[in-house]
Amino acid sequence: MTQRTRGGRPMASSTVRGAAIRIRGLHKSFGNEPVLRGIDLEVAEGEVVCVIGPSGSGKSTLLRCVNLLEEPDTGEVVVGGTEITDPDVDIDAARRRIGMVFQHFHLFPHLDVTANLTLPQRRVLGRDRAHAAAVARERLERVGLADKAHAYPGRLSGGQQQRVAIARALAMDPEVMLFDEPTSALDPELVGEVLAVMRELAGDGMTMMVVTHEMGFAREAADRVVFLDGGEIVEQGPAARVVGEPRHERTRAFLRRVL
Ligand code: ADP
Ligand code: MG
Repeated sequence: MTQRTRGGRPMASSTVRGAAIRIRGLHKSFGNEPVLRGIDLEVAEGEVVCVIGPSGSGKSTLLRCVNLLEEPDTGEVVVGGTEITDPDVDIDAARRRIGMVFQHFHLFPHLDVTANLTLPQRRVLGRDRAHAAAVARERLERVGLADKAHAYPGRLSGGQQQRVAIARALAMDPEVMLFDEPTSALDPELVGEVLAVMRELAGDGMTMMVVTHEMGFAREAADRVVFLDGGEIVEQGPAARVVGEPRHERTRAFLRRVL
């Protein structure tokens, strides 16, 4: 890891060993509305952190700030030792290290599954056709969809499409994966297959930040649960503790509504 400097001073804090994601003093407003009011959060390498909280609490904005789909007003976001909020950073290079899965799958409808996985590898990573195809095959196997390699997204169920979206993100060899309500758009009977893929990924040691309302998943798969409300982290801790014995009244009120 290279030692980076700013203004001639060593940035000792930018290379915290073991922290895959480090967020410090993150603020974000839209117009006059503060949406994130000073978020401090670290995610260790291989850690799975679930972010829960009411609609409008800033969960999506938080994830979007981690891969700079939104630009923070103030604060620092470090991913894999690179401060991506540094104005001099190569943002495309930084983003390549971060996989993102959205509620709506955002697959290319006019491309078959394999092409959905190979196109970004070729365009963004410059991989040749054979290399990209080999990676695509492996990732599709990993999400249990090797047999759908040549299907078009419109022919797949929502659960299958989301698994393709996960495979597509994994094909880019990300260091961290961000999930924004990956199962919220799915019919209930399709949720399980997507969560199973995510559990497996977690078991393989992937660093994951997951915004979800699936409390069962949070309990079983998350190392830590973070409860966000009003743009602030109200409470966080081991999943069983936060979900099972929430300490803060706002957390209790939220969990009463969703459980
Ligand atoms: P959550 O994902 O927890 O539901 P969001 O991060 O999507 O919350 O949104 C938090 C708040 O920020 C909401 O009040 C939302 O309306 C507002 N917001 C989010 N994105 C934008 C945007 N691009 N422009 C203006 N307001 C936004
Ligand atoms: Mg959201």
